[in-house]
Amino acid sequence: MSTQIILKVLALRHRLRQRDHWTRQQLEEHQGRALHRLREHAYARSPFYGRFHRGFTDRPLGDLPILSKEMVMEHFDGLVTDPTVRLADVEAHLATLSGGDELFNRRYRVASTSGSTGRRGLFLWDPDEWATVLTSYNRSFDWAGVGAGLTHRTRMAVVSSTTPWHQSARVGASVHSPWVPTLRIDSGDPLESIVERLGAFQPKVLVAYASMAHLLAEEQLAGRLRISPGFVFGSSEVFTEQARRRVEEAWGKKPFEVYAATEPAGIASECEQHRGMHLFEDLVITEVVDEKNRPVPPGVYGHKVLVTVLFSRTMPLIRYEMSDSLRPASSPHCPCGRPFALIDGIQGRVEDVLRFPAASGGRVSVQPIVFHRVMDTVPAGGWQVAQGPEGLTVLLSGVRESFADTALIDSLRQELAGQGAIVPPVKVRRVPTIPRTTVGKAPLIKSYVPGPRGKP
Ligand SMILES: [Zn+2]
Repeated sequence: MSTQIILKVLALRHRLRQRDHWTRQQLEEHQGRALHRLREHAYARSPFYGRFHRGFTDRPLGDLPILSKEMVMEHFDGLVTDPTVRLADVEAHLATLSGGDELFNRRYRVASTSGSTGRRGLFLWDPDEWATVLTSYNRSFDWAGVGAGLTHRTRMAVVSSTTPWHQSARVGASVHSPWVPTLRIDSGDPLESIVERLGAFQPKVLVAYASMAHLLAEEQLAGRLRISPGFVFGSSEVFTEQARRRVEEAWGKKPFEVYAATEPAGIASECEQHRGMHLFEDLVITEVVDEKNRPVPPGVYGHKVLVTVLFSRTMPLIRYEMSDSLRPASSPHCPCGRPFALIDGIQGRVEDVLRFPAASGGRVSVQPIVFHRVMDTVPAGGWQVAQGPEGLTVLLSGVRESFADTALIDSLRQELAGQGAIVPPVKVRRVPTIPRTTVGKAPLIKSYVPGPRGKP
């Protein structure tokens, strides 16, 4: 990581820590000023926002139109505030990423979102924005009391995506430094190998997708994994009650849930009180809304969230829609005294871990990321992998380019065989839309196989 970025992160971290002591009023005043600056910047520099917010530029945030990922991608060149940035060039750059800290136009870091709720989105950050992204992730560690950050040596293991275009991999490449010995493991690797490498490394901090943290807790409880992390963080997926309990049983520590997404980076995180997650309201305004974009009351799950990323400048994101369903806490006060509002529930971000008979006998658990590796390259608007008693069914909607289903089936079969599974029959069906659940989610990976799921 460049010295320039380290210095920016250290300075920013100091500022963020002070905000823990703000009053609610100080926080709201800061939000108001930051939102004003963001809008001024967008209206002055982004031709898209000039049109999109025409007639609304002096209206309050809640009156502004909703921005979808589809719109961002559709109007990419006009939305970005640097006229030299073109979508075609960014796409070409993305294809060349090899896992290092590569820059686009010698300035921007680029990452893409997986195509879970529509087409894949591309996002980029200049050095100041990237420093804020890194600092926002670091805040989760700070609040948990890790006390490490960038200047103390804390052995950290991150079991997540190492796909070079995912933000987590970009962050990993950025913070890789002698001060933070980090072991990065792809969560799609065979569990046995993950267990072995973690055992050899002995992390003090373990960061993993929630379903993987659960799986590793089971390995620990079964005596196959022997590590003693002081802190366990779960991100990207919902921590189920059972997963939380098992992590606590395995390591004697309550896990910390982190809510983040590529576009806004860190959104919310648990403090040491474990009363829910505090929203990072000084960095991102998160509106929890119903189907008609009206705010939901405390204690009620919203249908989606609208995020306004207060530090976004290269790609201003104002009321950007994400499909997560959050619940604002009914008792907003936390004994920690931080001024940031609490959310005490997320639903819909759960993906099933599918289990198959193993070629070597027994069963093998296949992580969602294994399917993402294949499915995220398919030029489809939406997809779902469903496991039934007869095998796997892949649903595709909004396929944009022609491609052979047989090639997709072959790739999936190869991945599953690589995991040690006896490969089941796989079929592909093209459908107008992916079926959604009652909360409006279309789970990407689900199992209809009766019996306990997601447990080894
Ligand atoms: Zn708190």
